[in-house]
Amino acid sequence: MAFERVIGQKRTIELLQNVLRSGRLAHAYLFHGPVGVGKFAAAMEFAKALLCEHPTEDGACGECPSCRQVDQLGHPALKVLLPGRKEMDPGQERQLLDELAEEPHNVERILKHPTIALARIHELRQFASFAGEGGRGSVVLIPVADRMSQEAANSLLKTLEEPPPGLRLILTTADPGALPSTITSRCQRLRFAPLSDEDVAAALVERLGIDRDTALMIARLSSGNFSLALSWVEADTGGMWELAVEFLRTAVRDLRSQAEFVSSLLPRWEGKKSKEKAPRLLLVERAVLLEFLDVLQVWLRDAQLVRELGPEAAKPLLVNPGQLETLVRFNTNLKNVDYGAIVSALDEAGYQFRRNVSAFLLLMGLVQRFHRAIRR
Ligand SMILES: [Zn+2]
Repeated sequence: MAFERVIGQKRTIELLQNVLRSGRLAHAYLFHGPVGVGKFAAAMEFAKALLCEHPTEDGACGECPSCRQVDQLGHPALKVLLPGRKEMDPGQERQLLDELAEEPHNVERILKHPTIALARIHELRQFASFAGEGGRGSVVLIPVADRMSQEAANSLLKTLEEPPPGLRLILTTADPGALPSTITSRCQRLRFAPLSDEDVAAALVERLGIDRDTALMIARLSSGNFSLALSWVEADTGGMWELAVEFLRTAVRDLRSQAEFVSSLLPRWEGKKSKEKAPRLLLVERAVLLEFLDVLQVWLRDAQLVRELGPEAAKPLLVNPGQLETLVRFNTNLKNVDYGAIVSALDEAGYQFRRNVSAFLLLMGLVQRFHRAIRR
């Protein structure tokens, strides 16, 4: 099936399929839209269709040797320009390509290096000079294209002004405004919209075998970003909800219980996502704590909805309807919760945390502010 990696984006895919059928191809394309909506997945599928040995009406056949090579990002006529230092270690490059091939929706998470150096554009030119000659031409993908250095962008511009025969370029970016207009004006632009909750949920069910209720809850948490949905899956959301409830329960108790609970929380998270080492954050991995703050925020918004609207009317609006009973009990036991104060405490905590305040101090500050807001 053509374009099978792409989730949703029906209209955009149809546009690309029309371009393929008509044969009226531009030299350069710019796929832009928010993080995690499938820009790079679509770029891979488009490249696959361009290089396929037996393309169909809808795109690539998906079965010929060429299609399989593009699926692995290992086709001799395909180059992916990765951000990175001047000299890129081939082993490291291969590893990044493997990760991208496995889940192209994660492109912004996988490619962490902040700059696409000039040397990369030189590689592009070298590649284009010998790969462009034969049959189907060649394709260069530039993910996170907004990270090009000024020199790199200037150099790419020359390639765009005089494109080598047979070369197609596909740039993808979540931030098209960061690219010089001299570049964007030479590309055919294609916008990718956020995914619907329904599309994200269906993909989670189909691809990861997640049950439908959990998938819908995660989809609602992810605001149309499939990459974020995947990180919610990894984050063991179930466990996070329980911790959020426990945290709120602790907020009602005395200072000593609060300190004990927060101290017990941190070691559980230590090194949970060991790939993202951030030593200045002391005990806790950044991503895990931010996810916890997000879960708290969502849980409290659900609780507020239940109080304002009543359980029946609130139920269809809840991110996590599975928590309804707990939410009702929370509101029954604590009638005067100041939700406004709690939400602003959470906002501030997120802000402080980004400025590297210690996780222990941050959570203690938060639990004490919750204490005041809950026991009015
Ligand atoms: Zn094929």
